[in-house]
Amino acid sequence: MRGAVLYAPGDVRVQERDDPKIGEPTDAIIRLSASCVCGSDLWPYRGIEAVDGPSPMGHEYAGIVEEVGGEVTTIRPGQFVVGSFFASDNTCEICQAGYQSSCVQRVGVGTEGAQAERLRVPLADGTLVATPDIPADDLIPGLLAASDVLGTGWFGAVAAEAGPGKTVAVVGDGAVGLLGVLAASQLGAERIIAVSRHEPRQRLAREYGATDIVEERGDDGVAKIKELTDGLGAHSVIEAVGTQESMLQAIRSTRPGGHVGFVGVAHDVELPGEELFFSHVHLHGGPAPVRRFLPELMDLIGNRRIDPGKVFDLELPLEEAAEGYRAMDERRAIKVLLRTGSG
Ligand SMILES: [Zn+2]
Repeated sequence: MRGAVLYAPGDVRVQERDDPKIGEPTDAIIRLSASCVCGSDLWPYRGIEAVDGPSPMGHEYAGIVEEVGGEVTTIRPGQFVVGSFFASDNTCEICQAGYQSSCVQRVGVGTEGAQAERLRVPLADGTLVATPDIPADDLIPGLLAASDVLGTGWFGAVAAEAGPGKTVAVVGDGAVGLLGVLAASQLGAERIIAVSRHEPRQRLAREYGATDIVEERGDDGVAKIKELTDGLGAHSVIEAVGTQESMLQAIRSTRPGGHVGFVGVAHDVELPGEELFFSHVHLHGGPAPVRRFLPELMDLIGNRRIDPGKVFDLELPLEEAAEGYRAMDERRAIKVLLRTGSG
């Protein structure tokens, strides 16, 4: 099969890779309907995260089950399924509490490389969620978004306790931030402040429910959000970048007693203890337990109540994955969908 492999920073190649095979009896093999590039793929692409030899890329997936191992009981060949970047049993105490991305048996799916035609998914019964029927083609981008960016934005909104009567600020205008806006809106937030200086992203943020746009970053961004909230700060802030600046902007934009949901993968973030102590801000976040939200989100997408697929503003054949990475790196695209060409 064909699949994307990162050789070194800036060097993504699509090449022939071995077809995945059932290894454990709990595995499933799926034929991907489409694949995509994630903001977090840009960390190794930019050399900020070390690249340890040629690495298959991609951890977002949706597609048709081709084969299952002997111990898989609920997932069947022919079903259309979506899963998350961490495989989970969905039965241990941590999973039952809703934290499947910290499952005691968790396995990263990313090492298998989902920017490819096929993918092996461990712990298939716990990890995969099937749609009632094979979805229409135009629903595929939305369902693929549910695999990570929507589930992550949703967790950010839930962790920030977005809801009726709340003012929610969203730091970060990548796909996760934009879908955090969508999530906050679905959860009933009264006012949603999106932080973005890019016109097309501002437009999508408004479409997804943002009521205000703040263009300033860092301390200026904090001042602006305070100005919009009677000097108090937002009740709920979603942090969807993962840098020192964005994390501090999120914490400082939150009112005492408010909540920060941080879902941008942290890189070299160090928090000042004394400032945190006096902030009275709740911090909750981490790798999103997307599996917790998948059934509800897939239902909302299937019933056309939400359209998270709009974050894909560039579509390329899998063979042109390198151009997809470049477009996202240069911020020419919010998120790139890769057509796998295998249906
Ligand atoms: Zn578990």
